[in-house]
Amino acid sequence: MTADPAARPLPARFPYGGDYCPEQWPAEVRAADLDALQDIGVNTVTLGVFLWSSLHPAPGVYDFSLLDEILEPVLARDMQIVLATPTGAHPAWMARTADVTRVDFEGRRHLFGARHNSCPSSATFRAESAEIAGLLAQRYHDLPGLVAWHIGNEFGGMCYCESCAAGFRRWLQEKYGTLEELNRRWYTLFWGHTMHSFEDIVPPSALSEHWNGPAYTAFQIITLDYRRFQSEALRECFRLEKQAIRRHSPDVPVTANLMGFFPGIDYRRWADDLDIVSWDNYPRIGHGPGRVALAHELMKGLAPDRPMWLMEQTPSQTAWRPDNPLQEPGLLRLRTWQAIAHGAEATLYFQMRASRGASEKFHGAILNHAARTDTRVVREVAQIGAEVRAAAQLRGSRTEHRAAVCVDWDSWWSLEMSDGPTRRVPYVEEITRIHQDLFDRGIGVDVLSPDADLTGYDLILAPVLFVTGPERAANLERAVAAGADLVTGFLSGRVDEDDQAPTLDVPGHLAPLCGIRVDETDSQPEGVDREIRWADGTICRADTVFDLVTPVDAEPLADYGSGFYAGTAAVTRRDTGAGRVFYVGARLDEAGLRTLWDQVLGAAEDRAPGLERVRRRTEDAEVLFLLAHDGAHRVVLDAASTDLLTGDSFPAGAVLSLCAPEVRVLRRPLEGAPA
Ligand SMILES: [Zn+2]
Repeated sequence: MTADPAARPLPARFPYGGDYCPEQWPAEVRAADLDALQDIGVNTVTLGVFLWSSLHPAPGVYDFSLLDEILEPVLARDMQIVLATPTGAHPAWMARTADVTRVDFEGRRHLFGARHNSCPSSATFRAESAEIAGLLAQRYHDLPGLVAWHIGNEFGGMCYCESCAAGFRRWLQEKYGTLEELNRRWYTLFWGHTMHSFEDIVPPSALSEHWNGPAYTAFQIITLDYRRFQSEALRECFRLEKQAIRRHSPDVPVTANLMGFFPGIDYRRWADDLDIVSWDNYPRIGHGPGRVALAHELMKGLAPDRPMWLMEQTPSQTAWRPDNPLQEPGLLRLRTWQAIAHGAEATLYFQMRASRGASEKFHGAILNHAARTDTRVVREVAQIGAEVRAAAQLRGSRTEHRAAVCVDWDSWWSLEMSDGPTRRVPYVEEITRIHQDLFDRGIGVDVLSPDADLTGYDLILAPVLFVTGPERAANLERAVAAGADLVTGFLSGRVDEDDQAPTLDVPGHLAPLCGIRVDETDSQPEGVDREIRWADGTICRADTVFDLVTPVDAEPLADYGSGFYAGTAAVTRRDTGAGRVFYVGARLDEAGLRTLWDQVLGAAEDRAPGLERVRRRTEDAEVLFLLAHDGAHRVVLDAASTDLLTGDSFPAGAVLSLCAPEVRVLRRPLEGAPA
């Protein structure tokens, strides 16, 4: 039944457009909106995301007339359609069914309201969501222009109800087999937690294991398993809808809009189910382009052989944050092309027209409340709309990155709820910090699981790899034996997948590979730092966490210059013959991280902070993206190039000037290919 997703038909046009809610508008407004949108290059609309209450107004009653009506003008204009299942928000009547709404962390059963409020274990919700998905597919499977099915909306959130408790017990029984095994791996002799029956087990919440909120738990492994279970329960909801769609629509790709570095779901476990990996990009204040680049590669890396789509970004500003900055002129274009540079095969926005009421009435849209077409946003969207047609020729293009960054949801979850050594190392922020200098050097990275096949990479970055059992350590060791340089360090190898500390020297199963041992780790409050002295005389600072490193089979590269452990190693290197392993025992400041990368990669002659460089390969060309995020830059072209956006041609050696926010997309034919 499952056809090869790679063989599914691709959209005829590079999808450009996004979420539209025509149900909020009368027919004449819809027609005018669609004309205006089409005029500025919008060729694809996502429809039906929140239509459940209209489609299913009462138990057993279905009414597709509104959806038929809103599809009609879209079909008349030959637009491409992403058709959503409406299951991100259940109808009000359904909330009166006992098991549908969620029970929150504090144990309160929710009433009808908001969205994303359906219990993922609810038998009613599962049956109803699969039913409506199947009915939509039955009715609309041969819709002209249907390019994708979009299931639900931004899956996420937790539930602590009785259905989830029962589901959790079944999931645990399947995982552990016996209570004896569960007790052993849950380490339940601690605080007298021995379970004598699976019925003893309750979800870890404010009423049971937690204090001071979801990040503070007395039993990390119970909370870790509950997060794994909830992630799987949501996946099961997705799969049930997908199966229902597939019965009527075997060939149209199915996706769900993910959210990049989203902590709620282990997206890796969803990857096999997604024909397209699509995601919503809403960078926060302070999330720079390096972080966004990592998020794109995280999403692309879920399924490197399948298309990645940018399903949502705001054409203007968000509305749900305390501060919602405008994107300065050119920034939307830069962000759109950044997505394409990292492999996006569709660039879609939320939203086409601003709602008049409720929580998104001030969320940015292409068309504002007055539906003006002479605004700055419309002009910029139109410019991009004309340009993105060129992106169709990049479909299926690949990167050939020599470096990989390891990201692991288990480590993320486990580290951030750990009591000790520190609460002040946010997982993704730390990875982003260490990655920044690679970004500034123009070194592209794949973002992969530490359990993926990493052999063949020249460089593997595996910081704060908190959860590392023997298999994971062996996987990294294979990559190093094959010639990779590995960079890891503090808060790595601290626990195994059962959240138990190994009976080994720190960093546990990674210790032999790193050639060190750590007997003590100091953790200091904000404002306290230590001097770090590199062997070449460079001095920098470190803060927050400090491993006292004893080299066993490694050489010290830097030691502490202050604290009672001054003179103790802080950074080490072990040469293994084929590869090298760098252990970074302290949270280095920016200067320290640059020194580290100078040690690993050699002094950088082409570091260009603010200028992102991405290379993709099509069958017959290399495409170099130059994305000026900050400042002014001069780039000497290393090959004759044609700018896909302007048509301008440049000889090898030409010097291009770029000033942020500016984009160049330079095509250069591969040797032997026609120009
Ligand atoms: Zn539940």
